[in-house]
Amino acid sequence: MAGQFEVPSCDKCRNPAIHHQVYSGRMMCGAHLSDSIRKKFSKAIREQLIIPHGEDITLLVAISGGKDSAVLLERIHDVFGRHRNVTIIGGCVDEGIEGYRPPSLECARKLCEDLGVQFETVSYPELGFKEMDEVVGKLDSLDEKKAPCSYCGVFRRQGINHLAKRVGADFIALGHNLDDMAQTIMMNLQNGDLERTLRLAPHTNFPIDGMAPRIVPLRWIPEQEIHLYAIHKGLPIHHEECPHGEGALRFRHRETIAMMESDVPGTRHGLLRMADDVKALHIKAKGDRPVTPSACIECGEMCSGETCKACEMRAQLS
Ligand code: SF4
Ligand SMILES: [Zn+2]
Ligand SMILES: [Zn+2]
Repeated sequence: MAGQFEVPSCDKCRNPAIHHQVYSGRMMCGAHLSDSIRKKFSKAIREQLIIPHGEDITLLVAISGGKDSAVLLERIHDVFGRHRNVTIIGGCVDEGIEGYRPPSLECARKLCEDLGVQFETVSYPELGFKEMDEVVGKLDSLDEKKAPCSYCGVFRRQGINHLAKRVGADFIALGHNLDDMAQTIMMNLQNGDLERTLRLAPHTNFPIDGMAPRIVPLRWIPEQEIHLYAIHKGLPIHHEECPHGEGALRFRHRETIAMMESDVPGTRHGLLRMADDVKALHIKAKGDRPVTPSACIECGEMCSGETCKACEMRAQLS
């Protein structure tokens, strides 16, 4: 009837659509969007997580209380929860950010409880770093200061490595989505940082010595779809953003990538495919990882120089 508002329907079942997947042209209802996410996840995890036959493995899932890592843990639990030789552990790093970390930590804890997954946490002070709120307070007095996220990213990485060692993890799963991956590739391009692009997870075929390989099974799924899925599944997720993230370069890249994607649907997939191709070409030419890391002389973590970034930053802030 003229003037009546028509709700678009799902291409597969004619139920009302909740998502228009612009890059594929598909209209999807909640159930079919979930279906597509489950399929993409299963394909990626099969490619990235190669479990040696008959061996027991421990998989640390880095969770934050946010939507991406909640979906990651929910999917991993669904696929491997009943496997007797796979132990799943949820691990959350507490950066010490008032108003943001305590409620998100509770979401992470609740998700683990709901799924019956062991939950582990470690705080920055336990790792010998200052809490992020204190780091931010100190930044003004430094001559050569970086954005809070530059410190936080390095410290969190150490936190995840610490949890991996504590639980004896063979693999670490991270919740990076397609948008995160595209933003990182863009940032690396902007900095001319080929090295970092070559080191991007997944590390399945080329584990870096001394570190549990990282897998990223959500890497082909856009952020918006993960968000819709988390809501559709009723997962406990924290929606607030960190107060120290404002102004971070990553947020500018988020806008740029969103703009490019809306102009040319499929941009994010293209960037990721290109990074994969560069990695494959490099491996073909060199047959090896770009740099063999060595142990930091201060803390023993694997790094590319004498001392690791975290130890440098710890000293700078002390
Ligand atoms: S936004 Fe930046 S400071 Fe806040 S938790 Fe993330 S990395 Fe840390
Ligand atoms: Zn449908
Ligand atoms: Zn170190």
